[in-house]
Amino acid sequence: MPELPEVETIARGLARRVTGDVIESVWLGSKPEPLKSPAADIVSTLEAKRIAGVRRVGKHIVFDLENGGRASSPVRKERWPGRARAKTPAPTSSTKAQWVVHLGMTGRMLVSDPSAEVEKHTHAIAKLSSGRELRFVDPRRFGRLSVTHGFQAAGSEPLDVQLDRFVSLFRGRKTPIKSALLNQKLLSGVGNIYADESLFRAGIRPRRRAASLTREDLRRLYLAVQEVLKEAIALGGSSISDYVDSNGEEGFFQLQHRVYGREKEPCLVCKTPIKRVVIAGRSSHYCPRCQK
Ligand SMILES: [Zn+2]
Repeated sequence: MPELPEVETIARGLARRVTGDVIESVWLGSKPEPLKSPAADIVSTLEAKRIAGVRRVGKHIVFDLENGGRASSPVRKERWPGRARAKTPAPTSSTKAQWVVHLGMTGRMLVSDPSAEVEKHTHAIAKLSSGRELRFVDPRRFGRLSVTHGFQAAGSEPLDVQLDRFVSLFRGRKTPIKSALLNQKLLSGVGNIYADESLFRAGIRPRRRAASLTREDLRRLYLAVQEVLKEAIALGGSSISDYVDSNGEEGFFQLQHRVYGREKEPCLVCKTPIKRVVIAGRSSHYCPRCQK
């Protein structure tokens, strides 16, 4: 499943490629699962909109849309005369529409040439005025497409949150710190790999109750989370699944995991074998010597 650094990388790639382009028309497949908003709402919200920007919010990709797109291609004008004129007036900046994409397990957003073969499991195609197409492909259909206004993630953004806020998120929680890190209502977008790596760098065992951590522990964890995520973003996200960037190219370097996936291998610091335990159904990896 793509984690925050991968989604950040994809959002940046998409921003580079499609910002300023106009969505002329939208095709949606017949499978209902990928559509979190009604199909008609998705189509009417996206069509004739200019893509003002693309960014990551939590683990979502958000396309900020604005009016001002040329309405449609000449062919479409012939088929639906007057449709563009029927559009509502430009909304104020506070009500700008957004297209929100969650990639789920296997979702990909491709910027494709129209002549490129449409892959199996393509659930949405947005035709752009540049002549290219944005295609959403997702074999396992855990990904979600929706349209909304003023999208916000449920939790705090791990790369923007202030230390005091970070500390207050975990204070008094009786759950293991690993579970708390994965709780998307607290921090938005920290997944299993980066939680394990952050806890290792902070020297904290994943099973420790969040409430037992001192402010100093939480300060180290705060710095570790940001460090790990920034390093992974700098590398373009780590790639562990069948996952490609928005150009359709595989090309991610893997952050060297210090504990994740290294069960029984020697700790890179002290050579003690890395342990794996299951916490709330998720594999957790740690060094029994370096982490307290
Ligand atoms: Zn160690």
